[in-house]
Amino acid sequence: MSVKRKIAVLVGDGMGDEPVAELGGRTPLQAAGIPAIRRAAALGHVQLVHTVPPGLAPGSDVANMGLLGYNARENYTGRAAIEAAGQRLPLDPADVAYRTNLVTIQDGRMLDYSAGDISNGEAHELIAALNAAAARDGLQFHGGVSYRHLLIWRDGPTGLVLTPPHEISGKSVADHLPRGPRQDEARALMELSRRVFADHPVNQARVAGGRRPATQIWLWGFGQAMSLPPYPARYGLQGGVITAVDLVRGLAVLAGLEVIHVPGATGWIDTDYAGKARAAIDCLRRSDFVYVHVEAPDECGHKGLAAEKVRAIENFDRQVVAPVWAALEAAGHPYRLIVCTDHRTPVARRGHTSDPVPFAWVDGPLDPGAPDNASAAFDEFIPAAGIPPLVCDLISSLLEPA
Ligand SMILES: [Zn+2]
Repeated sequence: MSVKRKIAVLVGDGMGDEPVAELGGRTPLQAAGIPAIRRAAALGHVQLVHTVPPGLAPGSDVANMGLLGYNARENYTGRAAIEAAGQRLPLDPADVAYRTNLVTIQDGRMLDYSAGDISNGEAHELIAALNAAAARDGLQFHGGVSYRHLLIWRDGPTGLVLTPPHEISGKSVADHLPRGPRQDEARALMELSRRVFADHPVNQARVAGGRRPATQIWLWGFGQAMSLPPYPARYGLQGGVITAVDLVRGLAVLAGLEVIHVPGATGWIDTDYAGKARAAIDCLRRSDFVYVHVEAPDECGHKGLAAEKVRAIENFDRQVVAPVWAALEAAGHPYRLIVCTDHRTPVARRGHTSDPVPFAWVDGPLDPGAPDNASAAFDEFIPAAGIPPLVCDLISSLLEPA
């Protein structure tokens, strides 16, 4: 009988990019020192993949579904439905969930889709104040992580065109307000939040401390109850997911995987990379599969910070990929290590694109003579023979039993 292979999928969110002048015309992946990832590419396989099925927007929701082996065209209802699963908020068929950002709007422009990376405690105070003013039967806000929250609205509007706030950084918001049937109801909630937050003590303290206030909520990414074929039934795999964000946590819940909490995981460049790696190694010790998601490179892309993005990618390589790979090698058990990213978040655009991204995997244990310094490119310019495949198809084949 063959021994079951351990599988680790390590995801640096938004690592893909475009050439950046500040980096001498290189992309952050090309500029970064990432010896572990380049070694995996050299000793295993590396290629470009498409993570977003045609016709869908390149969000982390759809792209991480792809990296977990699900085609969003079949199962996806909307981002907020996944985040609701992540917060263990059950959705009835009549419920509509809306992703609710705390944002900073100044002079009519989207200054910051993250309200200065507001803390959980401050954010939850604001959400509570908003509920006190707005909640009614069938309409309630739920506090999440930092600037990321949810509205669950029974029989809420499902025909609205809503714009992700991180796609309009620096732009006028007037052209991007909710549009379509019942737009006035959605706009009224956003307007109400502006009045509730205006003189709130949390914002007064933030402004006094030189930090950005959360001037209002921004609704987007709505979805209704959804389900996914679970991992144990689909691939015969038991395992867990490590992430700081409700979105990926929600995919874990929907996929029948364990949500593993790491106390220092923040979703920002100060995240506890090493803590995530330790949790991943522990998960692989007691199960078959782990999916580690690191949000930091994406956040740097959205904020237009090239040097910080390079540093986030280097931290991912040194503190996540290298130790997890070393632990797999040390265990001596058959394994497959997959290193990938969900989409490009070019620092020049400060938003996502659907262009293909690099994807690498290596099987082990390695031959005893495998060179320590092996290195191959892991970037956006890997030569592709034909159109890169959809990652959901490739990864499904890589997750099949050996
Ligand atoms: Zn993003």
